[in-house]
Amino acid sequence: MKALIYLISLLFVGTSQAHAWEAFYVLKPGELRFSKAVATFSQQAAPADCRARLKEITCIVNPIQDPKESRTCQPGSETMAPAIERIYDVLPPKLQQTFCGMTVIFIENDTDVLAYAGVMAWDSNSEAKGSFMGIRRALVEQNYDATSVLGWKEQKAFGLKAPPFVHLPEGPRTSIVLPASLSALHYVIVHELGHILDFANRANNFACPPGETCNLNVPAPESWTALSWETPEKPKSNQLFPLWSKLCFYDCKEQLSVAEMEDFYRQLTPTDFITTYAAVSPWEDFAESLTFHVMAQHADFEYQIQTPFASYDLKKKWDNLGIKKIWMQDFLNRDLKYPTPLK
Ligand SMILES: [Zn+2]
Repeated sequence: MKALIYLISLLFVGTSQAHAWEAFYVLKPGELRFSKAVATFSQQAAPADCRARLKEITCIVNPIQDPKESRTCQPGSETMAPAIERIYDVLPPKLQQTFCGMTVIFIENDTDVLAYAGVMAWDSNSEAKGSFMGIRRALVEQNYDATSVLGWKEQKAFGLKAPPFVHLPEGPRTSIVLPASLSALHYVIVHELGHILDFANRANNFACPPGETCNLNVPAPESWTALSWETPEKPKSNQLFPLWSKLCFYDCKEQLSVAEMEDFYRQLTPTDFITTYAAVSPWEDFAESLTFHVMAQHADFEYQIQTPFASYDLKKKWDNLGIKKIWMQDFLNRDLKYPTPLK
C-alpha cells in the first residue's frame, strides 16, 4: 500500500507539468472534469462495442485555463473518431480492449506535447478505475508520418528547437516505417495505451522488503522496473552510461548538445533501452518497449537513427533484446487487467 501511495505521489509530480511533459499522469478524481452534450454522452456504447465507443469519448478541448473548471467538449468532437478507429482496427485485441472502459480521449487544440495518458483513481482493492488519453489535435487531423513526428521529438533531446514536425540537418535523423505505413498517430496511441496497461497491471512496481522501513524506491522482484532500474530515477549500474545524466526532453535544467550526439548513441546502444525516450524513466521504458513489441509483429516495421558517423537499427535491437522482449511477450499473454469504467 505504501508503495502505491508513493507511486501516486510520484505521478502527481507530473501533473503540474502535464502540458510540458509528454509523460503521463494520474489525475485526482475531481480533476478530470469535462462535459459533453447530454444526448451523446448519456448513451455510451456498451463495453462490448469498444470501437463504437470511440466517437462517444472523443472530446475536442482548448487548453486548461482554470484547473477547477470543467473542460467542455467542442462541437464536432465525434468527427475525430474515424482517425482513431483506423488505428483501433490494426491493434491487437488486448490493446483494443483498453478503449472499452476509457472515460475520455481529449483532442487537445493547443499543446506542446504529443500525447498523454493515465488512470483516474484506485479503488479500495487497489485496482485502477477510469482511464483517459489526450492527443495533440494535429496528429489526429493531419496524417503526419512517424519519421517527421518522432524524428522531431528525438532532436529535442539534443536541445534542437525546430517547428513541429521538422528535422534539422544538424541533429540525428530518424527514419521510421510503421506497419501498413500508418501515421505517427499509430505509434503515439500504442505508446499511451502502454502507460494505461502498465498502471492497471503494475508492470512497473515498487516494493518495500517485509519488516523494513524503506523509501519505497526498490523495484519489486519480477517487475518491469527490476529489469533495468535501480530506483525510479536511476538505471541499474549495468544500464547506466555517462551521458544518461544529461538526457532530458522537456523542461530541462541540463541537456545533451548536438556535439555529444555521437557519444550518446554509442553509449545508449549496448543498454537494454530500446529508444532514447525509453531511457528517461521506467514508465517510458515500458511504453516504448510495448510499442516496439506491437510494431515488431509486422515485418514491414522499420526504425532507424542516423548520425553523421553511424547508423542504428532499433528494430534489429528489439529483435535481439532477450529478457525484456520475453518479459513483454509474457505480459501480453497474461490475463490483463483494465481500468474499470467510471459510472
Ligand atoms: Zn509516455
